[in-house]
Amino acid sequence: MVMMAAQLIFVLTTGAGEVKTVLIPSQGHLFIACNVLIMISMIAAEMWLRSSWQYHKQAVVGCGFAVSYLMYFVLEPFIDGAQMTLMMPIMIALVYFDRKLLNILGAFSLLFYTAVYFGLERPLLDKPLLEFLMVECVFIVFALLAQAVIIRAREVRSHVEQLTKSEQELMVERAISDKLLKVDALTGLYNHKSFHEYLDSLLEQCESNGLRLQLALFDIDSFKQVNDTYGHWVGDLVLKELAGKVGSMIAPNDFAARYGGEEFAVIFTDKSFQEALAAAEELRAGIACMEHPYAGGRPITVSIGICDYVTGYGKELLFRKTDRALYEAKHGGKNKVVSAACIPEDDPLVSYA
Ligand code: GH3
Ligand code: MG
Ligand code: MG
Repeated sequence: MVMMAAQLIFVLTTGAGEVKTVLIPSQGHLFIACNVLIMISMIAAEMWLRSSWQYHKQAVVGCGFAVSYLMYFVLEPFIDGAQMTLMMPIMIALVYFDRKLLNILGAFSLLFYTAVYFGLERPLLDKPLLEFLMVECVFIVFALLAQAVIIRAREVRSHVEQLTKSEQELMVERAISDKLLKVDALTGLYNHKSFHEYLDSLLEQCESNGLRLQLALFDIDSFKQVNDTYGHWVGDLVLKELAGKVGSMIAPNDFAARYGGEEFAVIFTDKSFQEALAAAEELRAGIACMEHPYAGGRPITVSIGICDYVTGYGKELLFRKTDRALYEAKHGGKNKVVSAACIPEDDPLVSYA
């Protein structure tokens, strides 16, 4: 539009009629028609891009072609080297980083300018052959440079892609190793270390905010016998299945871990002691009614000791009380849940300290 305004001023204020163009010699003011065509082709391309989802590239290439040749006819009477506008199609290929398009448009530009030179410039404007050769050379150099830019851009792109990929792989590996550090490999439950870390932070909450917490320790009954009778491979399978059962039965706020060998620990939170006791009893019953065809079909049971945390206990007393309750469950016939509340306060195993 700026170009159009400038030309309009020029036409209206000077002897534009004397301007010689390759299109219409000595009728220079008609080049305004070219400007109008430029506007029309740009508006048409813009509208196409906004209204359609297809053939965007073709629309841009077509518009670029039309605009570059129209501009050439507009500029040619005033500017030496106006042929350079004919390089616009090559630049479009550069925008799309498309080598094939670049080759086609480059070859087309060379041919088209040859036609323009021998059809219009030489007979009408008497331009020297040297100018034609120079312009064609500039086209070739520019096309070669554009090729180099496209090749380099592709190299950079593949480098960036590789970097992104290896970064993603690193993130996945880190996430996996983070999980491996926290989880027991055989059962998929949290391991001993993360259990203690989590319990420490929860006990802090108990002391400061009065969070309710109960600890339950599970020990598989006569598990050595399972190993001895059916082999460690079956023992492992039983451990895995029992852990899966515990994991699937606890509430989202509870936390299950493999405490060691054939022992699990469950931390109940946000529950009254009666609710936690009922949940532990449900877990015991759920485990007892599981079927293990590969282990002789007989039930495999657990004994559970459970203790309600009371502010001021500390971790050690909580464990001693829970252990004592578990001991009582074992010696009371196994396959039982025993609450630490049933153990007398002066029990020597609890109050040795
Ligand atoms: P109790 O009812 O008194 O708990 O008897 P138990 O046989 O379960 O107890 P004991 O402590 O004598 O035996 C525990 C067994 O658990 C011994 C050990 O071989 C087995 N065990 C510990 N960890 C694993 C494991 O990862 N895989 C297998 N298959 N067995 C394990
Ligand atoms: Mg044990
Ligand atoms: Mg055991």
